[in-house]
Amino acid sequence: MAAPQSDHRSPEFLAIAGHAYARLKELLGTKSPVVLMSAPGHGAWEAALVNPLAPGDRIIMSETGFFSQRWKEMAERLGLQVNYLPGDWRTGVDANRVEECLRADATGSIKAVCVVHNETSTGVRSDLPAVRAAMDAAGHPALLIADVISSFASSPYYHDAWRVDVCVGGSQKGLMLPPGLAFNALSDRALEAARTSGGCPRYFWDWNEHLGPEGSLGFISTPAIPLWYGLATALEMLFEEGPEQVFARHRRLARSVRAAVAAWNLELVSTIPDEHSDTVTAILLPEGNDPNAFRTLCREQYGVALAAAIGRWATNGFRIGHLGALSEAMILGSLGITELALGEAGVPHEAGGVGAALASLRTNQAREAPLRAVG
Ligand SMILES: *Cc1c(COP(=O)(O)O)cnc(C)c1O
Repeated sequence: MAAPQSDHRSPEFLAIAGHAYARLKELLGTKSPVVLMSAPGHGAWEAALVNPLAPGDRIIMSETGFFSQRWKEMAERLGLQVNYLPGDWRTGVDANRVEECLRADATGSIKAVCVVHNETSTGVRSDLPAVRAAMDAAGHPALLIADVISSFASSPYYHDAWRVDVCVGGSQKGLMLPPGLAFNALSDRALEAARTSGGCPRYFWDWNEHLGPEGSLGFISTPAIPLWYGLATALEMLFEEGPEQVFARHRRLARSVRAAVAAWNLELVSTIPDEHSDTVTAILLPEGNDPNAFRTLCREQYGVALAAAIGRWATNGFRIGHLGALSEAMILGSLGITELALGEAGVPHEAGGVGAALASLRTNQAREAPLRAVG
């Protein structure tokens, strides 16, 4: 990414970008067009709403945490009417509740169901195929729009097979890149909705601004060229290891993190084991312990950056991110420092988290060759 690069009309760049585009579609499991934009995830969030939906349209969103909250605020500011299904910031989307709402909508006035697949603020993964099944069971034509920013490329997501109409992804999570490239994978129904509903006023965020003829790659404005070089390489790395092996690696590492948390006798934010995220773990400290003092110790004394908890858990939680480029060495180092700092910060906990993580890694050992020198 730091090497001298060709301009975006050059044959060299177009070959690299075209290759990356095909690989990205393969990893997404889609034959439909994918719209890539130079933007953080928020840009693709906005594009996912303003193309297929028009002001006044009714949509369903579910309160899963900080990210569902922000996406809902965005939708409201864009003039959409959001039916926000309340949640406790510890569990995922309730597919039965979605089905009830859709069944109650006899006139088909609800245009979309929006789901944050992996709620990064709580470490809770929602069951996206269950939401699709609920929509099918209700026989409702709403579009399924999913934020897969912190799940895609580190845990399973299959765009066409799960029949998602629009997904929202970004470069800086499972794709192991710096921030600045975001995307929407589409479906025929999503493209049709954008054509026929008129959507919201938009210019840069118009999908057509970022697509060439017949859903091919097109660059009307200047793309973030270095990120495209990085994307091509990141996808090569992911396919070299194999997507299923990448997902298994993250599952294995996530289990070892949860084993450490259990041994420390600390509490996970996520309360339903089937919903535990394999890309981020949110952890609660016992009441009265300042998570930020503890995190500062980790960062300044030991060079380990634990994430702050955000939203509802900001005053008593912290998060361990374990997505993207991550190896056993990195996770064991982080857990070791976490345990050391818990002791130094005087946070009540049991010892033995690292040992429990080692035991977990031993029982869930990698059967495939490890990824070459990640980290
Ligand atoms: C990181 C993240 C976002 C926001 O992405 P930005 O690049 O910061 O705009 C949105 N949703 C989820 C689930 C995320 O993890």
